Amino acid sequence: MDDCIFCRIINHQIPAKIVFENDSVLAFEDLNPQAPVHLLVVPRKHLPSLKEAGAEDGPLVGNLFMVAAQLARERQINANGYRVVVNNGIWAGQTVFHLHVHVLGGRVFHWPPG
Ligand code: AMP
Ligand code: ZN
Repeated sequence: MDDCIFCRIINHQIPAKIVFENDSVLAFEDLNPQAPVHLLVVPRKHLPSLKEAGAEDGPLVGNLFMVAAQLARERQINANGYRVVVNNGIWAGQTVFHLHVHVLGGRVFHWPPG
């Protein structure tokens, strides 16, 4: 997926502040952070969004959330709480069409979201 910006980060073709990597998942700092901690956790496999995830992707999707939780502990946003967001599709505000989990923390968040 040469035209996918997150695939290009995964393949080290463009720079990013990578904070975690394993066989199936990568995490890096969001370029335009919306909170003191703002990380993105992405699968190495190119899935445009959760809408395209199949039953075979269940363990991978689980891994994204477990890595998100681990990074939240490491960044010390666990105690006060943090937000995990997955935007899926245009109306949800998705702008990069490679599945990603936002991990946001270090400030208070409000509900409902905008
Ligand atoms: P979404 O709106 O849910 O699709 O989120 C896409 C996120 O990717 C936004 O928060 C952007 O700031 C972030 N982003 C876009 N390009 C890059 C990049 N090259 N490196 C890191 N984060 C990026
Ligand atoms: Zn991709």
